[in-house]
Amino acid sequence: MPIKPRFHYVCQRCTACCKWAGDVRVEDEEITKIAAFLGIEENVFVQDYTRIRADRTGLSLIDHENSTACIMLEGDKCRIHEVKPEQCKGFPNVWNFPGWEKECEAIAVPIKGEA
Ligand code: SF4
Ligand code: SF4
Repeated sequence: MPIKPRFHYVCQRCTACCKWAGDVRVEDEEITKIAAFLGIEENVFVQDYTRIRADRTGLSLIDHENSTACIMLEGDKCRIHEVKPEQCKGFPNVWNFPGWEKECEAIAVPIKGEA
């Protein structure tokens, strides 16, 4: 039986996870939603804002020039917050990595009945 998480981590919008090097994976249905949200054609979005992932399994958002920050990060805001990819929505509650707490300012809130 899987262990239930005792905490839910609430994002504080510190933007650290938007500045890490690496892929920000976008799937086909996400591309459709993001392009519509930005008011541009899908092929224009793919051409201007994506690249092949490092593992070549699909597409990733590109970075700002001379930076590892995601192209959709504008100041301390995500330009596509309403339709951001699942990878972004899932950190750190759905996925994370050893030592993530040192990099992320999310606040742990006990899950009712679990803490
Ligand atoms: S690093 Fe953590 S607190 Fe900062 S924006 Fe990402 S999820 Fe939110
Ligand atoms: S899409 Fe938005 S939330 Fe995701 S990494 Fe880029 S700026 Fe951050």
